[in-house]
Amino acid sequence: MREALHSIDNTLERIPYTPTSSEISNLKNLAKKGIYICPYCNADLIVKSGEEREIHFAHKHSESCEEAKNVGRAETRYSKQVKRETQQHKVLTDIIYDELSTQSKIDERYEVDYGYRVNTGLKHYPDIIAKIDNNIFAISVVTNVIPLRDSGLVKEIAERHHYYIEQEMKPIWFVEVKELAIEPEKNAIVLWDAENIIAAKTEEDRKWDNFLSNHITDKSFFLPFNYPLNMNNIVIDVKSMYYIYTKDSKIKVKLQRFLTDRTSKPYRAFLLNNGVELEFSKTLQLQRSFTVNNSDTEENKRQEFLTNYENLKQDHEEKQRKEQEEAEERKRLQVERLIKNKTATLEPEEELSYQQLQKLLKEKINLTQKEQNELWNRYMPRIGYKNSAVVWKLTVDNRCVSFDDLRRVLKEFIN
Ligand SMILES: [Zn+2]
Repeated sequence: MREALHSIDNTLERIPYTPTSSEISNLKNLAKKGIYICPYCNADLIVKSGEEREIHFAHKHSESCEEAKNVGRAETRYSKQVKRETQQHKVLTDIIYDELSTQSKIDERYEVDYGYRVNTGLKHYPDIIAKIDNNIFAISVVTNVIPLRDSGLVKEIAERHHYYIEQEMKPIWFVEVKELAIEPEKNAIVLWDAENIIAAKTEEDRKWDNFLSNHITDKSFFLPFNYPLNMNNIVIDVKSMYYIYTKDSKIKVKLQRFLTDRTSKPYRAFLLNNGVELEFSKTLQLQRSFTVNNSDTEENKRQEFLTNYENLKQDHEEKQRKEQEEAEERKRLQVERLIKNKTATLEPEEELSYQQLQKLLKEKINLTQKEQNELWNRYMPRIGYKNSAVVWKLTVDNRCVSFDDLRRVLKEFIN
């Protein structure tokens, strides 16, 4: 087994994952001097290391006690379960464990331990189990997430998630951050299948549900965000994802809260914040119940979201108003141009009416009634009733002195 009880300090000690040879010989010496005892039967423990098995604690005099054997078997199963994880998984798990056990020392209602030690009979083991009052939290870290695309693994993670719920535990997952996929211009987050399954529904998420229910009445809510909503009937279901990473030798958690939307692959959701970076120790807080972040700041976040929404809405409405104004202006100019063109074609008519032409021709070429009839019935339909001015121009230009002259000119003009 990897844990032993410190015989003086009564603390649980773990063997480091990749100890150096000097660390190993030091652990062996400490064991020889009686520092390590079995957490289950209090027997003296020694440190063993060899080719076949990794370094571990073993009972000094007899075979392992029954409980230690159970824990050992659980530990073996757990190591198989986490085999696919990176080295970072161990580091993160241990830091989470340390952080939580520090908190549990302050509050005795609070218990924390490695998952396989709490209940050896489980089918799947959370990395860490934390208990406060009647709530049991199954905390798991997922690293090496790129193969999450692998459907077998997605199935396994989903199975673990649902299994913890069956076992009356509340699953909390931390995902290594490199898989975060955001579409900032659409205010969207794209999730892997597995991420979609393990997204948490916390008390704060429920508060967001209530908050959003008061503001979202229809699809138009999403227009200022430029978010293409997928669902037809709006169902408000806020969830959150915890992305974990180390930065400046501290564990940070990026909380991404979103409104679930697309329920088929690829999964996309409406982002409710830009990813709040939190220090891990401030993220997992020991309060009346287990909360994953500070609710005071969340209330501020909701107000921030609302303010941001109001601003975006204003901008959006302003933009729409401008577009409408521009469209109206374009329409106005078009009509104006149309009217202008029409008057241009009307100009000859206004210049000289047929009555005026008749009068002029009577004076100029002694146009008779019969000739006038011929002009009106035979030539005007071809020249255009509106183009009396054209006829007058032809008469003058060609120096016509009779209707015979004019007839010849008109015939030529028509052809
Ligand atoms: Zn024992």
